[in-house]
Amino acid sequence: MLLLFLLILVSYTPCESFVQSFIIPHKSCIIKEPIYRPIHRPINRYQTNTHWTLNVGTESSSEKILRETIQKENEGDGQEPDLEPDVVKESKAEQTQPVKTYTVPAHYVKPRPKPRFLLEKAFEIYDDFTYPSSAESLTPSASAPTALTPPPPSTSIKPSPHIVILGTGWGAASFLKTTASTPLNITCISPRNFFLFTPMLAGASVGTVEPRSITEPVRSLNPSSQFLEATSKTVDLKNKIIECESVTCEGNSCEISTFNVSYDVLIISVGASTNTFGIPGVLENCNFLKSIEDARRVRTGIVNCFERASLPGLSVERVKEILTFAVIGAGPTGVEFASELRDFVEEEGPKYYSSVLPYVSIKVIEASSTILAPFDSELQKKAISELTRFSFKGGRAITELMLSSGVKEITPTEIELNDGRKVAYGLSVWAAGNGPMQFTLGVIEGLEEEQKDRQNIARGRLAVDPWLRVVGGDGSVLALGDCACNAEDVLPATAQVAGQQGEWLGKMCRRGYDFCPEGTVVGRDMPPPSSSSGSPTIAEKISSPAPGVACAFQFLNLGILAYTGGGSALAQVQITEDKAVKSSGSLGFGLWRSVYLSKQVSGRNRLLVAVDWFKTKIFGRDITRL
Ligand code: FAD
Ligand code: MG
Repeated sequence: MLLLFLLILVSYTPCESFVQSFIIPHKSCIIKEPIYRPIHRPINRYQTNTHWTLNVGTESSSEKILRETIQKENEGDGQEPDLEPDVVKESKAEQTQPVKTYTVPAHYVKPRPKPRFLLEKAFEIYDDFTYPSSAESLTPSASAPTALTPPPPSTSIKPSPHIVILGTGWGAASFLKTTASTPLNITCISPRNFFLFTPMLAGASVGTVEPRSITEPVRSLNPSSQFLEATSKTVDLKNKIIECESVTCEGNSCEISTFNVSYDVLIISVGASTNTFGIPGVLENCNFLKSIEDARRVRTGIVNCFERASLPGLSVERVKEILTFAVIGAGPTGVEFASELRDFVEEEGPKYYSSVLPYVSIKVIEASSTILAPFDSELQKKAISELTRFSFKGGRAITELMLSSGVKEITPTEIELNDGRKVAYGLSVWAAGNGPMQFTLGVIEGLEEEQKDRQNIARGRLAVDPWLRVVGGDGSVLALGDCACNAEDVLPATAQVAGQQGEWLGKMCRRGYDFCPEGTVVGRDMPPPSSSSGSPTIAEKISSPAPGVACAFQFLNLGILAYTGGGSALAQVQITEDKAVKSSGSLGFGLWRSVYLSKQVSGRNRLLVAVDWFKTKIFGRDITRL
């Protein structure tokens, strides 16, 4: 059995390396000298619907790159370069200085056609394997300045810009992994010193996997970067300073210390908070599923309900109340938690709590009329029938779906619905959506009007441009993951999006792209980032018709998965806009487990998760209430 299991584990590896290569490169590329130039240049720039126009007084790096490309291409095969509208034109305007006009075609901004994008992705994998990696990239920069005391500028060596990344979630972890073994000067600041594999939090909250199996210390993801365990409180965007607060507790006394960190480039990846929609009683009476502490609390809470219900002298009504588990929100998180919980009841219940088992119920309360909104209706129906199937031979359905049921108020013992119904519960889990972070709202407040104008779509997230630069800023502040939103192309708040954005940004930094190129004006739309370092990779050549100028971030939807309990899961891989490959049941479950195992950030996690699954299968879940 063990041998078979190990065989399966080994057989995951090729799939893993394939999937991982979308997320985390195997080898690092090298930038000799990352370039980030000073900003605030006196420049006029206009954006039209189809192209971007720059009017600059002197030759810019973009122009230099274009000119060099033209020369190079002409020297080569003597053919005309593929650069139609973005050639440099002399302006007819009467000016004291010659003004040159650059037109950056819309294809830098617009999504690339899918075949080209897939080709680019394929070559990215190839590039990761083949792009030369020098010794320099493997040793951390000797002159790496600390976050608190930047070194004096050196005349011979251009100091590496100080990149500060906030957070240790999907976005930040993926950025840190991509930039590991590079000489970049990176500081990561987060109150949590580990990465958490959130998709398995539901499993951890019932004991299918252990908390330590789905976490990884952030210091191991990028040993050459600096880590500060602190919460960023505010950002002074003008002086490029972050105010941080660290809290250390010993016994009953806590010490709060504050300090400042300066940055050249700031990447905000602080995620989102739980949205309570201002419903009274949610914060006080519900459990959440966001952090590892939440999962621990829920795990203890579930066992506690079973132990309380097993005490003598309780009426049947009271036992039923205690053993009613209310899950509010039927999105992927709520459904996966309800499914894991039913697995717990079905698999551990008969062993340990058979006397109270007939009284257990899981109520999934959802305001809309359907569950699992991101999935298509066919899979939604399958999920509903799987969730409400009978448990125990010839028995009853443990899970009850309460659709179109908005929550009005939650008291310590009851959930009151909008239509007046009341649900008495023993334990409640709130999984009803994302809300803004206080820190993010503070940053939005400090930005120019352009940011505020987009808040009707971004809603408490930082509006970003197609290159993840915060709108209304000066190009030195970027945002990704759940705390960011490109108003022109709103992506779902998922780990997949955050991970791909982090990886993309990591690659951009590794390749020395300048996020504040010539033409950047505070509060205006900015020209695309550009780079003049090294020869372009094949993927860059495909994606960018003008070398050195960055194409926008593009999301590659690899599909969505959701566990529906009892060894079944849903999988939906979008092929075209309206065509998807769908699978459910045990096939979906196989896919779900393979993908979750392969997406772990380290080999250690992968092994621990596999061992946990194996342990649960053989010995069941641990019900020790620690
Ligand atoms: P996060 O991963 O949330 O990370 C935020 C980081 O910022 C944390 O390290 C936090 O400590 C830190 N931080 C917070 N405030 C500050 C501050 N002021 N200063 C510095 N650091 C700060 N997505 C999927 O694609 N598939 C799934 O199956 C899936 N399942 C999920 C299940 C659950 C239970 C949950 C909660 C989410 C799930 N998601 C899933 C969504 C996914 O987890 C998020 O989209 C993803 O975590 C977003 O990544 P992020 O980097 O933006 O933020
Ligand atoms: Mg993050």
